[in-house]
Amino acid sequence: MAAPLQEMDGQDGAVGEPKKVTVIGAGIAGLVTAYELERLGHDVEVVEASQEIGGRIRTHRFGPGGAGPFAELGAMRIPAGHRLTMHYIAELGLQNQVHEFRTLFSDDAAYLPSSSGYLRVRDAHKTLVEEFSAGLPERRYRENTLLFGAWLDASIRAIAPRRFYEALHDEIDVELLNLVDHIDLSAYRSGTAANRFDLHAFFADHPQVRSFCPPRLERFLDDVLDETSSTIVRLRGGMDALPRRLAARVRGPVLTGREVVGIDVRDDAVRLRIRQGAGTVVRSCDYVVCTVPFTVLRRMRLTGFDQDKLDIVHGTKYWPATKIAFHCREPFWEKDGISGGASFTGGHVRQTYYPPAEGDPALGAVLLASYAIGPDADELSRLGERERNEVVLRELSVMHPELRQDGMILGVAGLAWGERPWSLGAATVRWGQEAALREAERREAARPQRGLFFAGEHCSAKPAWIEGAIESAIDAAHEIEWYEPRASRVFASARPSRTGGAA
Ligand SMILES: Cc1cc2nc3c(=O)[nH]c(=O)nc-3n(C[C@H](O)[C@H](O)[C@H](O)COP(=O)(O)OP(=O)(O)OC[C@H]3O[C@@H](n4cnc5c(N)ncnc54)[C@H](O)[C@@H]3O)c2cc1C
Repeated sequence: MAAPLQEMDGQDGAVGEPKKVTVIGAGIAGLVTAYELERLGHDVEVVEASQEIGGRIRTHRFGPGGAGPFAELGAMRIPAGHRLTMHYIAELGLQNQVHEFRTLFSDDAAYLPSSSGYLRVRDAHKTLVEEFSAGLPERRYRENTLLFGAWLDASIRAIAPRRFYEALHDEIDVELLNLVDHIDLSAYRSGTAANRFDLHAFFADHPQVRSFCPPRLERFLDDVLDETSSTIVRLRGGMDALPRRLAARVRGPVLTGREVVGIDVRDDAVRLRIRQGAGTVVRSCDYVVCTVPFTVLRRMRLTGFDQDKLDIVHGTKYWPATKIAFHCREPFWEKDGISGGASFTGGHVRQTYYPPAEGDPALGAVLLASYAIGPDADELSRLGERERNEVVLRELSVMHPELRQDGMILGVAGLAWGERPWSLGAATVRWGQEAALREAERREAARPQRGLFFAGEHCSAKPAWIEGAIESAIDAAHEIEWYEPRASRVFASARPSRTGGAA
């Protein structure tokens, strides 16, 4: 895995002459690239299409002047094992902001659906085991084995999009259960009534069991374990502190409102067409690091790319995601016994999170009413903003009728990431792919085109996480640091400017 450059090389200043680098995109990948390159002595500027930095790290603040509680409309949690992300948190002085993130099923009073209606997590085990057992052939399993199967199935159902779950459901198969049946599982019973199952601890202690999981299930397991882990963290004041602090440390300009609309790779330079207000400028750059999602890149005018590169740019699959947050008068769920974590609501809503109400109580609290991914998010996106908010309110009111009280909802904020023009998707999806194919795709996504380099979560071995975006950024900075241009290459910065001006 990539290590931050200073840590790895123990040096300051560029290996050769300082290079001039333009970074496209001020998301976490772009900002880490800029930060690391500057530490190595290179000159960097960042061009960002939107008016904001942070990309898919997006903290929305409610209330006048943003003084109220906030909702994480993009990334909201960090598995504590994400070493690079935790490194930058420490580096940026944010360690005191690190708090526990309470996840799905972590609260006994949260809900999940069954064929007979919503169940509290603390009471769900009997129904889950009955429903899970009903789908199994005759063979009898030990009680703990059934508890394992039932909670694994429930976790997959809560995390995977509906269609994906339907395909995976049958994969918790007899071979896997036969194996698990021979293991003493008593230590993994968890929860106040010991009627839940600690999947995280079990798979950590028994890695060999993973090889008995059918391939599709095995590839999805990391996400299930990450998302239901008890060692996930958040940044107390909002995840946007990460890109903000990074941007403040970058010395070169971070220019917002600059949309790159075309990239032309030549032997001696990379030419960017940049839209700025009503006009477009052409800018000739020595080195460029492109961190925009391939969904956006493939809509640009691209020239000088080789065919394999164009194929990966056009072929990489992304999934959409939607998040809808309600600004509530009060954290009504606390009166219902829920102190945090998340319910699996099902339906169109999918997941509902109860972020801690840590601010001034007079300013209300935020409920992350709905978080949907993949085809489920597509369905919500298609409805349009108004209808999607109504559908979420209607469905969620069955579980939380308090939402219907007069004046309970003070405001709504949401984002359909598949529609945001600078993202056109939430994240690259490589679930279901074999490891070798996944790695081949990653390498191709990250492969430079002469002076044009690539970073972003889609170029990493940890797609769909901040960790992946950072890993790819460090790799790109490293590649530029050591890149030796061909002797014939004449750099744009060594020539008089041919462009229409600064971006
Ligand atoms: C809903 C959601 C939930 C998530 N949850 C988590 C989580 O809990 N934990 C976690 O670790 N990760 C999570 N992720 C993933 C994480 O947010 C991303 O992997 C990471 O932020 C991606 O960073 P990036 O720099 O690669 O891309 P981006 O953040 O997308 O940055 C790309 C930047 O390029 C800009 N740009 C686009 N087009 C142009 C253009 N033409 N010209 C100039 N600039 C352009 C964009 O505006 C953006 O600022 C989540 C993502 C989403 C969408």
